[in-house]
Amino acid sequence: MYSLTDEQRLIFSECRRIATEEFAPRAFTWDDEPPTENVELLADLELVGLNYPIELGGGGLSEFEVCLQIEAIGRICPDTAQSVYRRSMIAPRVIEMFGSESLKEEYITDVTAGERSISVAISEPQAGSDVQNIGTQLVEDGDGYLLTGEKTWITQGESADSLVVWTRLPDSNMGVVVVDTDQAGVARETDYTNMAGDTQTHFTFSEVSVPESHVVVSGKSGFKRMLRALNWERCASAMGCIAIALCAFDTAVEYAKTREQFGQSISEFQGLRWKFADMAMQIQLGRTMVYNTVITAVENECPPNRLQSSIAALYATEVCNNVVDEALQIHGANGYQQGHPLEYLYRLVRGKRIAAGTDEMLRNTIADAVLDEGLADLPDLMN
Ligand SMILES: Cc1cc2nc3c(=O)[nH]c(=O)nc-3n(C[C@H](O)[C@H](O)[C@H](O)COP(=O)(O)OP(=O)(O)OC[C@H]3O[C@@H](n4cnc5c(N)ncnc54)[C@H](O)[C@@H]3O)c2cc1C
Repeated sequence: MYSLTDEQRLIFSECRRIATEEFAPRAFTWDDEPPTENVELLADLELVGLNYPIELGGGGLSEFEVCLQIEAIGRICPDTAQSVYRRSMIAPRVIEMFGSESLKEEYITDVTAGERSISVAISEPQAGSDVQNIGTQLVEDGDGYLLTGEKTWITQGESADSLVVWTRLPDSNMGVVVVDTDQAGVARETDYTNMAGDTQTHFTFSEVSVPESHVVVSGKSGFKRMLRALNWERCASAMGCIAIALCAFDTAVEYAKTREQFGQSISEFQGLRWKFADMAMQIQLGRTMVYNTVITAVENECPPNRLQSSIAALYATEVCNNVVDEALQIHGANGYQQGHPLEYLYRLVRGKRIAAGTDEMLRNTIADAVLDEGLADLPDLMN
């Protein structure tokens, strides 16, 4: 049984306090812009990048503390939680894991100060789930390289200062490079608006200059390392899903206790009580799964393994889709109205079944892992 340190309890309660006092009034309204002002406030309080080294402006802590933040903030304002984990566990995390000291100094310090937004650019029109089919190509050019290709569906691409780009390398292995969006040859072609109202951008790269120092992953084992790093994204996204489920659950509890039909509170109908029991069971299981996966990885000082992180991501996605749907059902027509928090959450959670690996691809990964290696005994699962 893991017990929280005093510092971890303080992080959780401070994040919850800030979210309640500062973020709650505008929660569920971040349809068409990221909650930049909330991120700036958290950065001022040194609460962005808790898992990065202190020398880079981080908290010198781990991904576990980031998950505590995601839960505390996301239960009140899911979009702010997502902005926190985008900075801690997705694109910048790849730079922090694999980049040179000078690259980290340049990029991560800005991220923890809330001054640089970095998006991850993997998908291409012909390469969604099939990431090995990407056509973006890096070629040698004097002392450095040139990058040509296109990327699509990039979250917060509209406001991104930099991109962590998956590409094919001159030796035809897969790798990762960092480019800035204001560089010559980088063009934001189209901004799409998804169902949750977020902008997703299509970029093209035409012979964009990439110095050697900005090639962060290369070599024969590069692709394997890139996939392993993605497991942090899966855990962060899973925790975000659990936070959304908690948010919807709280809304449903509050509503059910005050709405009366047939002369009594609807929370007294057994048909609804069992919904609350099922929702609570799913949330608790999902939450335990994510925290166990993250704690094990932190203790082992390496990214989570593919089986644990894929199960956590898939289960948490199913939990949040189910809980938001049931919470809306409990609200009846009141929950089905535009502008209601559940209307927003309903649109938001649907994308979680597609982003960062579809349900089907996560099932493929889980099946690959258990058919290759069997389902491990508990001591092995903790590796
Ligand atoms: C909200 C959101 C945010 C996103 N943000 C980003 C981002 O920031 N950066 C980025 O690079 N990308 C981003 N994406 C893109 C995302 O990574 C892709 O949408 C995802 O990888 C799936 O690719 P696709 O949409 O092309 O679907 P496809 O790969 O074309 O799949 C279509 C359908 O076929 C199924 N399918 C495909 N292959 C298999 C298979 N082998 N077995 C079984 N079923 C299969 C899929 O599961 C899916 O149901 C985002 C997407 C969404 C929805």
